[in-house]
Amino acid sequence: MDVTPATSRRVSAKAQLALDEVRMAALAAFTARSMKTERPVPFGSSIYHTKTGEMLLQTLNAVAKENDPSSHAEVKAIRLATKKRKSPSLAGYTLYTTCEPCPMCMSTVLWAGLDRVVYGATIEDASNHCNQIHIHAVEVAERSDMACKVVGPVLRAQCYALFTHPNMLRAFSTWTTRKTKFKTKSQK
Ligand SMILES: [Zn+2]
Repeated sequence: MDVTPATSRRVSAKAQLALDEVRMAALAAFTARSMKTERPVPFGSSIYHTKTGEMLLQTLNAVAKENDPSSHAEVKAIRLATKKRKSPSLAGYTLYTTCEPCPMCMSTVLWAGLDRVVYGATIEDASNHCNQIHIHAVEVAERSDMACKVVGPVLRAQCYALFTHPNMLRAFSTWTTRKTKFKTKSQK
């Protein structure tokens, strides 16, 4: 074989990105279906087996539906997945999310032992519409003893379009976490 290991790794990374984009596009489409419902949400998450590529499940943010401020899409997906697998560990799995995980969600990702997390829109993007905690997912991961690869943004524009959908913009005005003031200083 005349393929060097370095080249193999590059091709493999490219193939991984292509896979991540396909799965993120599917998740964005799944999340977009909520725009036609009574409770539109821009936040969706899916969990795939890292090696086989089999999808375990996909779900949406259910904070309003469940009156539970911790029912972010990522936490909800992890709760459903661990129950389904009858194990508190999701080692060997990858979580996709339409928006960068907040510190609560990233902490849950780490406690669950997920291999990778792939996000679409950023915390700054979400912050244009609803309150956020400004600590990046990668920073939470780096400060932990657990190993989890944080990848993103992937298909950022497609995921951010969920936030700016007319039905979503209307719905944000009723959110308890709606953005009530705009920051004037620029954010990183
Ligand atoms: Zn969250």
